[in-house]
Amino acid sequence: MKQVAFYTLGCKVNQYDTEAMITLFTAAGYELVDFAEKADIYIINTCTVTHQGARKSRQMIRRAKRRNPQAIVAVVGCYPQVSPEEILEIDGVDLIVGTEGRREILDLIKQVKRADEPLNFVQDVSEVEEFEEIPIDKAEERTRASLKVQDGCDSFCAYCIIPYTRGSIRSRGIEDAVKEAKRLVSNGFKEIVLTGIHLGAYGREREEEFNLVTLLEELIKISDLKRIRLSSIEATEVTSDLIDLIAEEEKLCRHLHLPLQNGSDKILEAMNRDYNAKQYADKVAEIRNKIPQIAITTDVMVGFPGETEEDFETTYQLIKELAFSDLHVFKYSKREGTPAAKFPNQVHSKVKKKRSAKLRDLADDLASEYRKKFLGIELDVLVEEERDGRTDLLTGLTDNYLRVMIDDNDQYQEELVDVKLKELREDYLIGEIKKD
Ligand code: SF4
Repeated sequence: MKQVAFYTLGCKVNQYDTEAMITLFTAAGYELVDFAEKADIYIINTCTVTHQGARKSRQMIRRAKRRNPQAIVAVVGCYPQVSPEEILEIDGVDLIVGTEGRREILDLIKQVKRADEPLNFVQDVSEVEEFEEIPIDKAEERTRASLKVQDGCDSFCAYCIIPYTRGSIRSRGIEDAVKEAKRLVSNGFKEIVLTGIHLGAYGREREEEFNLVTLLEELIKISDLKRIRLSSIEATEVTSDLIDLIAEEEKLCRHLHLPLQNGSDKILEAMNRDYNAKQYADKVAEIRNKIPQIAITTDVMVGFPGETEEDFETTYQLIKELAFSDLHVFKYSKREGTPAAKFPNQVHSKVKKKRSAKLRDLADDLASEYRKKFLGIELDVLVEEERDGRTDLLTGLTDNYLRVMIDDNDQYQEELVDVKLKELREDYLIGEIKKD
């Protein structure tokens, strides 16, 4: 039996794309092995959103070839999509595929065997209009699976390379998405996380045919599916229909990840984001008004070119006011090929580091404040398959993304249980299962 090994860098969508390729290989009779083992084929699914992603991708290519010099090494995803020549120059690369064409990966591997030089199958993604349908039937975790329903982005935020690597918006048809959700549920998954590069744009290119709300309405009907979570969505794309649906439907997690990026209107404009701070804050208020316990999390970028101390302070205050339940802080990293790479007034790395540390401290305080509100309350927890590594307790998440540890010896793994939240610890809550 031939062996294949994968290494994945980057975002949730990339993780999903790897799962899709694994499904193709295992259906064709390949054995999936760990990347640290000897394999016949190594596939590195790359990322180029940060410099680190590109460096790590190069490192893994070399590592694969060292493990088995005879192996076929294929490099796929965003990195070859934007810099094919750079990758073809790396010794040991046999095949490059971009962010389209992964569906043909098995055929391409056959062609490599016949070729005596590296093959380049990177397509021009700006021309691609159809969602590349590759079904998956498993995921890394056993309780929660991602369901990719969208690819591409047309927004061209000034710092972001994605529109160049992933092309225009393409949405998966509702029928295909529901079919895959049903398959995942029949394989035991209880929670589905809807994923896309620009999820809120789902259906936009198909005009009035369908949208995120109509997709969710269909997914809710799947009886054994317990929870549906949205991965990340732009605040401007959270419609009142979507808010109403989340408020009404128990299966929809009360959790929205709304990237803010910055709190200064000047910086938001320079970033080419399509909202200002007030519009964002109004949206948060509208959501909280209808769904009071909702977890709103966000991404913030510090050190965008031109960000002054005053801009940063405005961002800090806004984040504090909006009381996010968690935030991911990123330091701006220059990506060649994006407009912001040429902007003047690049911010020094020491300043970025300081701003990022300050926001991370704030993130800890806000997260703990949010957790505190749920002490004494009962919530459903989806218990994961593995016990928590630090405490050896059963662990899981509530729908509003609270990490809960449960001290119980009964076997509740992969079940949705009613838990009373009793105690607050550093970054989680301790709960007790209600057994009546
Ligand atoms: S919305 Fe902006 S940040 Fe998000 S993928 Fe599109 S261009 Fe990148």
